[in-house]
Amino acid sequence: MSETHNFVVLGGSGAGLGVAHSFLKHIKPELDKLGKAYHLYVVDRSSHFFWSTGSPRSVVSATLLPADELFTPIADGFKSYDSESYTFVHGTAESWDVEGRVVTIRLSDGRGVQTLPYYALVLATGVRTPSPATSIHDDYATSKASIEDLNRKIPSATSVIVAGGGPTGVETAGEVGHFLNGSAGWFRSRPSNPKAKVTLVTKGDKLLPVLSEARAIEAETLLNRVGVDVVYGVSVVSSVTDADGKTTVSLSNGEEWTADVYIPAWGTTPNSEYAPAHLKNDQGYIKTNGTTLRADAAAGPRVYVAGDVGDYSRGGFHSLYTALPVLATNIKRDLLAAASGRPDAKPEGPDRPFTGSTAETQAVPIGPSGVGAVNGWRLPGFLVWLAKGRNYMIGNIPMTVNGDMVRRDNTVWKQ
Ligand SMILES: Cc1cc2nc3c(=O)[nH]c(=O)nc-3n(C[C@H](O)[C@H](O)[C@H](O)COP(=O)(O)OP(=O)(O)OC[C@H]3O[C@@H](n4cnc5c(N)ncnc54)[C@H](O)[C@@H]3O)c2cc1C
Repeated sequence: MSETHNFVVLGGSGAGLGVAHSFLKHIKPELDKLGKAYHLYVVDRSSHFFWSTGSPRSVVSATLLPADELFTPIADGFKSYDSESYTFVHGTAESWDVEGRVVTIRLSDGRGVQTLPYYALVLATGVRTPSPATSIHDDYATSKASIEDLNRKIPSATSVIVAGGGPTGVETAGEVGHFLNGSAGWFRSRPSNPKAKVTLVTKGDKLLPVLSEARAIEAETLLNRVGVDVVYGVSVVSSVTDADGKTTVSLSNGEEWTADVYIPAWGTTPNSEYAPAHLKNDQGYIKTNGTTLRADAAAGPRVYVAGDVGDYSRGGFHSLYTALPVLATNIKRDLLAAASGRPDAKPEGPDRPFTGSTAETQAVPIGPSGVGAVNGWRLPGFLVWLAKGRNYMIGNIPMTVNGDMVRRDNTVWKQ
């Protein structure tokens, strides 16, 4: 075997794990046959994968969905492979030397930093929401503690403010409302005996930007049915929590509201602080060739962008699962070409193209029902509940972490 090349994946969530398992299952064996030695490094600041999809229900009460069910050790997902072929690094990517082709990782165990040279690099560090209860901010323990803190407060709350009109805000408000207030009976639009005043504030003039106006109106009706009021055109400017645990939010209209519980669920920030500015767009997303899913050419050869941190992504699993086969195929093409020893080392023939969809596709559970669409076709509430609201799809966690999700060779492609 030749010198060992490092295949480094930053981020061990849906996107990073999808690429890492594709590499070990479908790409590395082909390189092994050519006598080329590769080692996979998966780097994540959290030791555990977080199924954030389930957090809107989990934050409400452990009796509905215990936090423990949302977290799984990332390293356990690789146990079926030869231990010589991979390393899980628990640490935070702090900087990236593009010229030197090295990333610097701050190790989570306090041992300082590790510099990791790479032959190929995959950026899959995703995005974060304002609250660690709904996304990873550092290690998973922070997210788990944040969920458990809300579990302690919500059952006795008589006032709850949720900020954000996207799916996370709508689902969370729906779960809180349903848990505290129950649901409206037949021929009623609101619960008869609500226990708490639950308010969803959004700076937009409609809920759920991905879905149509009709479905947004349907969402408000369903929120009302679990005792949630929606206030449009207002954003939370700041919030202060006092010693009693009550939070006062200052709103963009100048008002101040106080509630037992405040849950910020608006907007996302890309986790790309380690990347140089010239490789990011104005919002901090990594500039990506939207057809090949390689990073901008200025990032150098064999650098790829997977999942939500890329400027090509619409976010969500639909976009992710469409991108993974494209990434795996083009990575395999590049590495086999590089292994061929040809002077230009360019793969022959066209790259596998990514064709992202802009169709109206989203499923948003709201209490015992929900709204949604697939390719512009309305999903009835009971189907949204069946597909997602029943258990927030936690059955997908094992196959995401152990790689069964990409068990079939996703690099097989005919032009
Ligand atoms: C509350 C919530 C509910 C959602 N519900 C749905 C849904 O129902 N359907 C759907 O399709 N999509 C949903 N999504 C979106 C979906 O979760 C994302 O599209 C998906 O997780 C993106 O995967 P990713 O791997 O790109 O990034 P992420 O899941 O964001 O993961 C990024 C990973 O990178 C790590 N990381 C970040 N920075 C660094 C660093 N500097 N160094 C090392 N590691 C780092 C993080 O710890 C994390 O593990 C939801 C998102 C949220 C927040």
